Amino acid sequence: MPAPLTPPATIAFIGLGMMGKPMAGHLMAAGYRLRVYDASQQALSDFVGAHPAALATASAKAAAEGADALITMLPDGKVVRHAVLDGPDGAASGMTRGTIVIDMSSSAPLGTRALGSDLAARGLSLIDAPVSGGVRRALDASLAIMAGGDAADVEQCKPLLLAMGKSVFHTGAIGSGHAVKALNNYLSATSLLSMCEALIVGEKFGLDAGDLVDIFNSSSGMSNSTQVKAKPFVIPRNYAAGFALALMSKDLKTAAELADQMGVRAETMHDMAEVWTEAMHKLGKDTDHTAIFKYLQEQA
Ligand code: NAD
Repeated sequence: MPAPLTPPATIAFIGLGMMGKPMAGHLMAAGYRLRVYDASQQALSDFVGAHPAALATASAKAAAEGADALITMLPDGKVVRHAVLDGPDGAASGMTRGTIVIDMSSSAPLGTRALGSDLAARGLSLIDAPVSGGVRRALDASLAIMAGGDAADVEQCKPLLLAMGKSVFHTGAIGSGHAVKALNNYLSATSLLSMCEALIVGEKFGLDAGDLVDIFNSSSGMSNSTQVKAKPFVIPRNYAAGFALALMSKDLKTAAELADQMGVRAETMHDMAEVWTEAMHKLGKDTDHTAIFKYLQEQA
């Protein structure tokens, strides 16, 4: 069993966006040494501005050199594969045999399995450890983490994961964390969309949206969307939860593709992927996912 990755291990962290920035910050606070990289110079300098002890590097490969583990927090599995393996300065070429890659992005499960095999051929391990809880729970290190991979590898990474999250679930083999994550986001998208439709209809009827949400939250219509997203982001129409429409659309396509790959007819998954992708085309890929309310209101 490899030794647990405890501080002051050196961690390469690639992807310092809405989620990666606070997550990498928690690793620094826990005493890990960080080598960081982001394709955006702005994201990189923001991070080292806030955490001067972190080492900014010029490529994924440079970040990986000498690191005990590499974490990716990137938009999707294709970007992860490019940053880790296929790109000209892929991180894998900088990693020492026997070290581990932890993909915390929400990637597609079958692509993750393929990446795991390709990394294993180079003597590197992979676990997928996507997260749930959004920016709010990334900021207070209370993310839920669903980890797929060899049990010993997941165990080795636990101290690291628990510096960023509150719970770590071992979901099974490589790719299973990503499968759980896509299915979770399908549920999350469905409840948000349903809540927005209910608010639009209720307001037309003359009901107060805030009152409606209070009643849902004491009733069987309660969900994470009614509890966490309605009052801060939807009712005031600021759409500032910090999770882009493009990322939600990607997760829903991943869930629908997974259903197809499993030979399961899941019509609502396909409908959801379609509606959210249309909303992304209409409102812009960087627009926050809570703006699905605006999209539905315009359709109504
Ligand atoms: P983001 O767009 O804010 O951050 C992604 C970062 O990756 C950016 O800083 C970008 O510059 C960088 N990047 C893109 N391509 C790169 C490359 N080739 N090499 C290096 N850096 C590159 O996204 P985010 O909201 O932080 O989400 C990251 C992942 O976490 C996604 O897979 C998303 O689905 C998932 N996720 C997001 C949330 C959320 O609430 N935002 C919640 C759970 C999971």
